[in-house]
Amino acid sequence: MDALIVEDDDSMAAALLAAVRSTGQNAQRVARGSDALLRHRDFDVILLDLGLPDMDGLEVLRKLRQVTQCPILILTARDDERSVVLGLRSGADDYLVKPVKLVELLARIEAVTRRTRLLEERNSSRLTVGELEIELDRRVAWVAEREVSLTATEFDLLALLAKSAGSVVTREQILDVLWGDAFLASSRSLDVHLTGLRSKLQLPGFIVNVRGVGYRIEADPR
Ligand code: CA
Repeated sequence: MDALIVEDDDSMAAALLAAVRSTGQNAQRVARGSDALLRHRDFDVILLDLGLPDMDGLEVLRKLRQVTQCPILILTARDDERSVVLGLRSGADDYLVKPVKLVELLARIEAVTRRTRLLEERNSSRLTVGELEIELDRRVAWVAEREVSLTATEFDLLALLAKSAGSVVTREQILDVLWGDAFLASSRSLDVHLTGLRSKLQLPGFIVNVRGVGYRIEADPR
């Protein structure tokens, strides 16, 4: 695995490089958002700071998401709710607030890259549930033939629920499949992605809350 570290602070960058390399993985560092946009293709996972000298990290994230599904973790000092929500809605797979324990960072990197691999292996067909149609290979979803533009995580969440249509998928199962660990992942991230997904689908009642348990898409929704 090759990790791209986008970080303008030299000592932080050195610590991150050392941490990733200590696991036997490759890591390179760039200090500017524009360099991340130029070089992202060579990497399997991206760690993205938000406070960058040439452009805001959220803008880097949005531009990256137009061209790549590569896992992206935001690693930033910004811990306000609005930034977290914006980051996740803009397509980040995870959001970590500095200072972060290196052990936790490595676990999160492992989780998002494992999730991407698993989903690539499992995704090999087309699914239809009521008005919803999903093409898993191409990662495209339609509602009543309208293409729905989803973030990587929203798509994974929808695909997981649709594959289990008719039965409940527990919150723990969702956290485990999407983030790789039912206990490590943040529940708040799931709520943000679910809210985004529902508003894009515009299918009221399609994803049913099963209180205290999880979520279900009806197999034959009206
Ligand atoms: Ca910075």
